Amino acid sequence: MKALVNTATLEMTFRDEPMAVRLSDDEVCLRIDAVGICGSDMHAYHGHDPRRIPPIILGHEFAGEVVDGTYLGKRFTGNPLIACGVCDYCVQGRSNLCSNRSMVGMTRPGAYAEFMTIPAKCLVEIPTGMSATRAALTEPAATALHALHMAQRTSVRPIQECRVLVIGGGAIGMFMALLLRNYGVRGAVVAETNPLRRKSIVRHAETRAFDPLSESGVTESSCDIVFDCVGSKHTRTAAFKAIRHGGVMVHVGLQDWSSDIDMRKLTLAEITLIGTYTYTMADLRATVAALHEGAFGDCSWVEERPLADGSSAFTDLHEGKSASAKIVLLPH
Ligand SMILES: [Zn+2]
Ligand SMILES: [Zn+2]
Repeated sequence: MKALVNTATLEMTFRDEPMAVRLSDDEVCLRIDAVGICGSDMHAYHGHDPRRIPPIILGHEFAGEVVDGTYLGKRFTGNPLIACGVCDYCVQGRSNLCSNRSMVGMTRPGAYAEFMTIPAKCLVEIPTGMSATRAALTEPAATALHALHMAQRTSVRPIQECRVLVIGGGAIGMFMALLLRNYGVRGAVVAETNPLRRKSIVRHAETRAFDPLSESGVTESSCDIVFDCVGSKHTRTAAFKAIRHGGVMVHVGLQDWSSDIDMRKLTLAEITLIGTYTYTMADLRATVAALHEGAFGDCSWVEERPLADGSSAFTDLHEGKSASAKIVLLPH
């Protein structure tokens, strides 16, 4: 089969690879119809992910059709995190924290290929009429949905009343802005340094966006909820500056993790700091339904390219040349 392989740092090679194999009878083989490029794939491409070592087939934001067995002909997206189902976290419904988890595009071959295998328990069916490209947005959109639900559970006031700052206008920031709008949050604003992405946020999420490098954007201690969808030392500092007393700061992105958190403000102002990681199966199912119902808009900001041209997509994202926060690759 053809696959886009991360062959070295800053190198993606479209080449022949051995056919994907099922590791057990509980697995299915999917013909991949669409697969998104994730920030974490970019991280691996840059050689910054010790868990993803070349040569490796990356890609975990997949949609495809089963080509064998019981589910033959059915279309699915799904959970790239393969949880054990029996550890303490799995039985609590917190499969994203599973102690024995593995992951497609990391511990086993991913979806930048014509075919990929995955356990059937990870699959979420795609509704009739939903395009493969839209279905491939499920994983990043579910990350935003999960983070939003974590914030909602903690916020003293309903989120519709809250002033919300989203830091980062990449895919997660974009999905967050779209979701906040759909939830009826009027006081949301996005901080993003790339002018192309700011334009895209304003146009598609109809949300105010500012450049944090040249504008203050939000008043100090004014935001009830801050989503840091970048997760760098700079953005954490900015988030803590923006957060209001009693506010909720949600850490979603993880670009680096050395930190000087203002523990004085955290303590005296009773700020809640929440770390969020990926999504559960329930989040993924809810996200497929939300995407299908249009809760994330028409997704026309998403760019499609052939998998065979995947290498140039990575280069464009690397050089900040793509206006779109999400490129979806099509294997056929
Ligand atoms: Zn992803
Ligand atoms: Zn588990």
